[in-house]
Amino acid sequence: MVTLDSLGHRAGARAFVDAELTPYAAEFDAEQRTPPRTLERLAQSGVLGAVVPTTSGGLGCDLRAMSVLHEEVGRACSSVRSLLTVHSMVSWSVLRWAEPDVRDRWLGLLGRGEILASFCLTEPMAGSDAASVAATATRRDDGWVLHGQKRWVTGGQVAGLFLVICRTDRGVSAFLVPRDVPGLCVTPVTGLLGTRASMVAQVDLDGCALPADALVGPDGFALPTVIAGALDIGRLSVASGCVGLLQACLDASLDHSARRRPDGVALSDHQLVRRKIADMATETVAARLLCERAATLKDAGDPEGTTAVFMAKYFASTAAMRAATEAVQIHGASGCSDGSDVARYFRDAKVMEIIEGSSEIQQLVIAAAAYRGRSSS
Ligand SMILES: Cc1cc2nc3c(=O)[nH]c(=O)nc-3n(C[C@H](O)[C@H](O)[C@H](O)COP(=O)(O)OP(=O)(O)OC[C@H]3O[C@@H](n4cnc5c(N)ncnc54)[C@H](O)[C@@H]3O)c2cc1C
Repeated sequence: MVTLDSLGHRAGARAFVDAELTPYAAEFDAEQRTPPRTLERLAQSGVLGAVVPTTSGGLGCDLRAMSVLHEEVGRACSSVRSLLTVHSMVSWSVLRWAEPDVRDRWLGLLGRGEILASFCLTEPMAGSDAASVAATATRRDDGWVLHGQKRWVTGGQVAGLFLVICRTDRGVSAFLVPRDVPGLCVTPVTGLLGTRASMVAQVDLDGCALPADALVGPDGFALPTVIAGALDIGRLSVASGCVGLLQACLDASLDHSARRRPDGVALSDHQLVRRKIADMATETVAARLLCERAATLKDAGDPEGTTAVFMAKYFASTAAMRAATEAVQIHGASGCSDGSDVARYFRDAKVMEIIEGSSEIQQLVIAAAAYRGRSSS
């Protein structure tokens, strides 16, 4: 198991990100795509296989190490971090829940980043309420047949493998669907508010025939098993990416406020600006600590880990939105211009309050856990 210490790594991740992502993130955003050469670099660096064991070509990170990697990537580019998020969710699901043959078939490809994976839960009428998925998987003698439509599939434009959540006669189940299966149709979604380079797609499944072992995890019980586990990874990844976003907002605001002197006095000398900086700096550290706590609890298999991940995601995403709003404010008109980094952070931060469970859903879950704790104390 690779830990933060053995990975070495905030510094290593930062060097990679500064060379491969930071200079190009605005271009990716404008072109609404992460180019193949960047995906190749991500694969070569091992970042795509962060949660995959070293025996399958991955980095074998624990969640603390993954969180640091995804924070560093999120500091430069939320779109690329989103691609890592869904790839990690699917990789983890294959590792944890796929049949041994199926796991061996896919895990090396995922770990080495030779294919990208996407997670397909959301539908036109199923978003926050995952239990209401309508896509179907019908059992037949030699396997399954899938029908339905999945929306907002991050990385769907380039994914080679999809983890698709469907309803069977036993309940909600998860299936591994290769891109080349007949009946699968991918339609790019463009013009998004944020994470514009995350290559989101709509995925239609029209009679996709799959072998019996395409089922991942227990038939009918994917919600408390595969989906819950994958979403834990996804939320921690998004929360960690939001810490990166917070840091990026803070760094940009420090630079700009020290340089800009509208009335002969640097912005950084005004107390009202300093208050914004103080809030950003404090919330960045608080969000980072919540992520570290959540990852540590999850790594230890502590049952408190899931609530800790919800708290980290809720706080980090809302704090990122506050920081991005103030970063644009500090930058004035230049923060509203096309290609401005802080404008991109602002658009990306809004998306973070919606994906992997909206802030309202996080609040409901955190409050329910608090009441449970009260009744059991
Ligand atoms: C850029 C982007 C990428 C995405 N990538 C993926 C992906 O890879 N895979 C995937 O499966 N999905 C993905 N999604 C979908 C995302 O997970 C959903 O948008 C999210 O779960 C919310 O669902 P919804 O949009 O249907 O909103 P709805 O469920 O319709 O909710 C709308 C609003 O109502 C609020 N609300 C809902 N229920 C309650 C309640 N009980 N109490 C109070 N308020 C409530 C919500 O908080 C939200 O503010 C992505 C979305 C975006 C924007």
